[in-house]
Amino acid sequence: MERDRQGFVLTGPDLIVERKRPKGWTIDRDPFLLETNVPGIFAAGDVRYGSVKRVASGVGEGAIAVQFVHRYLSKV
Ligand SMILES: Cc1cc2nc3c(=O)[nH]c(=O)nc-3n(C[C@H](O)[C@H](O)[C@H](O)COP(=O)(O)OP(=O)(O)OC[C@H]3O[C@@H](n4cnc5c(N)ncnc54)[C@H](O)[C@@H]3O)c2cc1C
Repeated sequence: MERDRQGFVLTGPDLIVERKRPKGWTIDRDPFLLETNVPGIFAAGDVRYGSVKRVASGVGEGAIAVQFVHRYLSKV
């Protein structure tokens, strides 16, 4: 799992560096919002790089992640 120097998990657009997808990324699309560098694995809440460290934010991110899990599963 790709992380920043402090150990927070990188997701979505934060994984794109100089327009390149993360190393080892095997799917022909960019990572979804909240998706880690492992396709189909999502991160939400405090553990995620750049997240707002608040309960409501974590809950909201979790709800969003569920939608992307459905999208991921519909295309595998
Ligand atoms: C002192 C303090 C006060 C706060 N006050 C507020 C507030 O007033 N309002 C507010 O909105 N937010 C507040 N926050 C922030 C809020 O607590 C967090 O944003 C929120 O709890 C994040 O939820 P989370 O599920 O992302 O992470 P967490 O609540 O940290 O949950 C992560 C869980 O994963 C478990 N875990 C860790 N590693 C592993 C592992 N390897 N295997 C299995 N389980 C593991 C941990 O034990 C923990 O139970 C406060 C935080 C602190 C520290």
